[in-house]
Amino acid sequence: MTRIAFCGLGIMGNGMARNLIRHGHTLAVYNRTRGRAEPFAGLGARVAATPADAAREAEVMISMVADDRASRGVWLGNDGALSAARPGTLCIETSTLTPGWIRELARQAAARECELLDAPVTGSKAQAEGGELNYLVGGSAAALERARPLLLDMGKTIHHLGPTGSGAMMKLINNLIGGVQQVALAEGMALAESSGLDLEQVAQLLGEGPVGSPLVKRKLPGLLAHDFAPAFALALMHKDMTYALVEAANASVAMPTSAAAREVMQLAIARGWGGEDAMVVHRLFCNTNLEGD
Ligand code: NAP
Repeated sequence: MTRIAFCGLGIMGNGMARNLIRHGHTLAVYNRTRGRAEPFAGLGARVAATPADAAREAEVMISMVADDRASRGVWLGNDGALSAARPGTLCIETSTLTPGWIRELARQAAARECELLDAPVTGSKAQAEGGELNYLVGGSAAALERARPLLLDMGKTIHHLGPTGSGAMMKLINNLIGGVQQVALAEGMALAESSGLDLEQVAQLLGEGPVGSPLVKRKLPGLLAHDFAPAFALALMHKDMTYALVEAANASVAMPTSAAAREVMQLAIARGWGGEDAMVVHRLFCNTNLEGD
């Protein structure tokens, strides 16, 4: 069993950390908002005051936080995890971040004789809780072999993309396509709602037909119920689209459709909906919303 420091107990990290405890690992957990970490004391984890406090006895450190800024704070900030890391500690960054930041973090980890894997995930809240995540990994094969049993305690498939940062890049490509799908689904369902079609039947046909991607299938029930409780917050989806578009700009790759989808998300965030599920963009297109619903 492994001594693990786990930082970031949000929607995803919560389920992941619980699965590691369930598999018998010894956890020290840190979350910026301590109240989210406290329930873990009842599960046998040590609730740490800072990332460094979590890291001090760890063999492996795992981070699952919002964005580059949060990741930088957790690893390198005042009382950051790397300041307390022992040489040889394996660092696993599972958040969705930019390849540039991942490469910088890997250099900082190496300076402390630690090795970093970028291992962002596909799957959402239910897959994090159910131990069914899929990992997109960048880094050395040796580090991945060390991480593999732990990753499989929280997930089901592991894909090694290549060197440091390649997992992060794959994840951004995945999510920009997912972002476009969600905006298209939001628009299509708004047209369905205004057309008088039977919405249950529409949803069934979309889910079972050629456009019924796993993501579309996952999002349809909430969309039908206009229930936008966050499984994946709009602000985070917008962050991923932004990161992907910056990569595209740096590579001189035109991505007009992704850019338009990101603008739709920006409009919804401006309405104050950033904390709701990304599918909340549907409200922008609903007649009911225009009438003040
Ligand atoms: P979340 O519920 O919003 O949790 C975000 C976590 O990051 C919380 O622990 C939060 O701490 C922490 N955090 C935010 N800003 C911070 C800062 N400046 N310093 C320290 N900690 C900070 O998000 P999530 O859905 O779990 O997503 C986590 C990561 O996984 C993101 O990179 C996201 O893009 C990615 N992801 C999400 C999904 C999904 O379906 N939800 C799927 C795949 C990948 P507080 O509790 O203090 O706010």
